[in-house]
Amino acid sequence: MPLPNYAYFKGRIVPYSEAKVGIMTHTLHYGTGVFGGLRGYWNTEEEQLFVFRPHDHFRRFLDSARLLCMDFRETEADFTERLIELLRIENFRTDCYIRPLAYFSDEIIGVRLHDLTPEIAMISVPFGSYVDDEEGVHVTVSSWRRVEDNMVPARGKITGAYVNSALAKTDAQRSGFGEALVLNQDGHISEGSAENFFLVRRGVISTPPVTDNILEGITRRTIIQLLRDDLGLEVLERPIDRTEIYLADEAFFCGTGVQVAAITRVDHRAVGTGRMGPIVGSLRKLYFDVVRGRVAKYSDWCAPVYQPKEAASRR
Ligand code: PMP
Repeated sequence: MPLPNYAYFKGRIVPYSEAKVGIMTHTLHYGTGVFGGLRGYWNTEEEQLFVFRPHDHFRRFLDSARLLCMDFRETEADFTERLIELLRIENFRTDCYIRPLAYFSDEIIGVRLHDLTPEIAMISVPFGSYVDDEEGVHVTVSSWRRVEDNMVPARGKITGAYVNSALAKTDAQRSGFGEALVLNQDGHISEGSAENFFLVRRGVISTPPVTDNILEGITRRTIIQLLRDDLGLEVLERPIDRTEIYLADEAFFCGTGVQVAAITRVDHRAVGTGRMGPIVGSLRKLYFDVVRGRVAKYSDWCAPVYQPKEAASRR
């Protein structure tokens, strides 16, 4: 992966090579940071880069920071402005991934959350797909369990909690699977290592509720709305048993990185026909039109980075 050219670091945009921290940095040792993950989508017709739902991403970023007792003066609108400035300087004319990070910059020994100095950094890099085949992911049910709200809250995007995701992902991939599906302590499906989970059974779509130790995904929220309002489907947020996926007609992951990816096999069992189904197929098409700023109804979700050229060709 190419390195960024610039970084937002300590309140200004600097060459990436100057955005450095010392090895004593608190967050590096104790996992006491929070992060975000956004995407920018290049729209060739409009010659425009659209950042998808930046206000919602930065709202969650600030919420995650609050969980770690980090206070910032900036609002989600301030972060969006800084991000747009960074992307203009990078001058991307391609899809990109954006990573804001809040960390405690103190170079001290001592595990705690109080009396520390939170700082923000942000970078962006060109980015394509996160999984090899978005139309056919083979998942395994991980032997690792998802972090619990009273251990490390999954609803915050907390750096230390990603050890849980990394354990599940590495074991899955070393065993030949594309992704892991992680269960809660009570045996219900929570989510993938870095993506939310949905299944389709008899025309009804289900996804785990936010009380089942999931990250409250922005894509999840987007997908629920698209399924209900545009595809006219019923979506339930409810606990999901492991064996329901064995009997599902379709299943998929969603997230900023993975976008919408069909799960076609689970532990060598076919999900439905074993190929991407019609609902996931239609949803993927709609999702990519939405994120690229091609659906007028959802244009508020797509923040333009550059000055608009001329009349948009949106439907
Ligand atoms: N769950 C986890 C654990 C994640 O890391 C992510 C990626 N941020 C998601 C779900 C999807 O969240 P979002 O749609 O906001 O990217």
